[in-house]
Amino acid sequence: MTAAVIDGKAFAATLRARIADLAAAFELQAGRKAGLAVVLVGEDPASQVYVRSKGKSTIEAGMASFEHKLPADTAEADLLALVDRLNADPAVDGILVQLPLPRHIDEQKVIAAINPDKDVDGFHVTNAGRLAVGQPGFVPCTPLGCLMLLKDRLGDLSGLDAVVIGRSNIVGKPMAQLLIGESCTVTVAHSRTRNLADVVRRADIVVAAVGRPEMVKGDWIKPGATVIDVGINRVPGAAEGKTRLVGDVDYASAAAVASAITPVPGGVGPMTIAVLLRNALVAAWRNAGLELPADAI
Ligand code: NAD
Repeated sequence: MTAAVIDGKAFAATLRARIADLAAAFELQAGRKAGLAVVLVGEDPASQVYVRSKGKSTIEAGMASFEHKLPADTAEADLLALVDRLNADPAVDGILVQLPLPRHIDEQKVIAAINPDKDVDGFHVTNAGRLAVGQPGFVPCTPLGCLMLLKDRLGDLSGLDAVVIGRSNIVGKPMAQLLIGESCTVTVAHSRTRNLADVVRRADIVVAAVGRPEMVKGDWIKPGATVIDVGINRVPGAAEGKTRLVGDVDYASAAAVASAITPVPGGVGPMTIAVLLRNALVAAWRNAGLELPADAI
């Protein structure tokens, strides 16, 4: 068997087109653009790339982008004051503070300062709690993107065995909550899990969010399973001095057994920004007190 490739890039492009339509509809009804503020502290090169790309995508979707770039030595109090101003600004529907923050700043304190109804990253404990009890809120972008790909591929997920490898607050835990919400039987595996290969072999759905290049091998995968690879790992490339990106799953061996699999790059990665735009737009409709067309996004 050769697995079908789950094309996250194409899915994300379709989603972004739908978001752009809804952003235009929002502007007509609300008399203003939906707005997303992105805050970057310091000069981490990867974070700079993410922030630039988020700003560009926001504008392409017809939304307003507010970028705040602060020096690496910004005091925690000054960052908290900026978050307060953004919380109070009616033109700002969503606030994203790019992580990681410099060491002298307490990330949890900053996340806690964001108004949960503008927390489009879904990292605030209020939103984690809402997800846990099944109330509407904001769900972290990467796991929500994974769920969209799974539902697009498999339809109804109820009763399926799902194994999530990784238990981070950003990916693994919210992914597990989402799958429970879809009535899957969910196992969360992590660094202390015994016999990981045997645990993974039970799964109809495998979501790998570990950060270890090509750790999940094809012979861990149940034939016909659907594999979502969240990992983004840079490894030495074929040519001297070059690097390439690989996932947490050994793609070639897994694709020989699975029924469908996300590639790296081009799978989960493109979904993250698309879902961020989705969350910002949902925030805008809610914050403006307007009714988002049912099942719109
Ligand atoms: P993390 O480091 O916070 O968490 C990794 C998890 O993996 C931990 O819960 C740990 O218990 C588990 N783990 C570590 N070693 C293990 C092992 N040997 N066996 C089983 N489990 C093990 O990472 P994260 O933020 O959740 O990200 C995971 C991966 O996803 C990374 O490669 C990251 O780059 C990638 N990522 C991608 C996107 C995207 O947009 N596609 C977004 C976020 C993260």
